[in-house]
Amino acid sequence: MTEKLYEKDAYIKEFTATVLDCKPCDSGFMVVLDKTAFFPEGGGQAADIGVLDDAKVFDAQIENGIVYHYTDKPLKMGDKVQGKIDFDRRFAFMQNHTGEHIVSGIAHALFGVNNVGFHLGEDLVTIDFDKELTRDQLNEIEYLANQKVWQNLSINAYYPSEEELKNTDYRSKKEIDGAVRLVNIKDTDVCACCAPHVKNTGEIGIVKLLDTERMRGGIRIVLKCGAFALYDYRTKYENVSQISALLSSKQESAADAVKKLDEKYTLEKQKINEFKKKISELTIAAVDENANCLFVDNCDTKDLQLIADKLHKTYGGIKGAFSGNNENYSFAICGEDTELQEFFNKFKGELTVRGGGRGGMVQGTVIATQENIKLFF
Ligand SMILES: [Zn+2]
Repeated sequence: MTEKLYEKDAYIKEFTATVLDCKPCDSGFMVVLDKTAFFPEGGGQAADIGVLDDAKVFDAQIENGIVYHYTDKPLKMGDKVQGKIDFDRRFAFMQNHTGEHIVSGIAHALFGVNNVGFHLGEDLVTIDFDKELTRDQLNEIEYLANQKVWQNLSINAYYPSEEELKNTDYRSKKEIDGAVRLVNIKDTDVCACCAPHVKNTGEIGIVKLLDTERMRGGIRIVLKCGAFALYDYRTKYENVSQISALLSSKQESAADAVKKLDEKYTLEKQKINEFKKKISELTIAAVDENANCLFVDNCDTKDLQLIADKLHKTYGGIKGAFSGNNENYSFAICGEDTELQEFFNKFKGELTVRGGGRGGMVQGTVIATQENIKLFF
């Protein structure tokens, strides 16, 4: 079994170890050491990355107590190697992970909900609780969790004796094979967990609950702590400050200002649609009834459909509306369906046409000059 330095001390960034085994594998090489500070994926936490001498370690997994380091270069058996983990990344994970313990512990104590799933992503944690929680309840949990951070409580991770374990009330996500490792956050929570945590709650910095999602009678909560919460705040601050500057509003009321803008936009859109309708009516009224196709500037497919339909209903026969530039036009053509389909097949046969339709209307695009289209009609 590999000696797990990360279990004894979660703050070891560099270490020296002996290579016991190195085998090629699909993604590179699998290296076994006598001891390691690389935390292998487990307990919902991602594996550490870093280097062993000049070989990159991009993953670490554990099987039967042996940690396998996945590297891009082979290492010589028997050699002593210098290991170095990406500690900024690991520490941010430790902040997120320890914050998760506090949030789950408080939610359990306060509202009797159980953590039934937990995932530590690259920059956030998701926690699945087996019961729904309201925003007010979540705010209460969040505030109490931050209070625990401000109190800078000690955190102890240890393997209890069988007797001790029997007499300890602790949370556990699932049945655990082998020895149970407990993580005790003073006056807050005791939970079985194998991952590295911070030593004192103050190191977490901040605990922030974000989006929620209902799921199977419960709730999924996104959580960010420490460094990840800081980056999140920075990004959101940048966004809100830009939005409020654009709308000349206070940052606190940026959402109201956007809502007002959206209402105004909806009204303007309605007005534009009414104008478009009027313009199409006026255009049609001014058309020679013998003209079978009409070229109009700046129309989208919806406008073209409206015009072609009006033309057909007013004058009968097959009528088309086109919009575009020199040799590339969008179109809508209306007519009695059987006659129209026959017409459209010929249209496709003679010109470069994409599109189709049914029920007395076809639409699409055509690559041809205005003269050629007119000639065809
Ligand atoms: Zn943990």
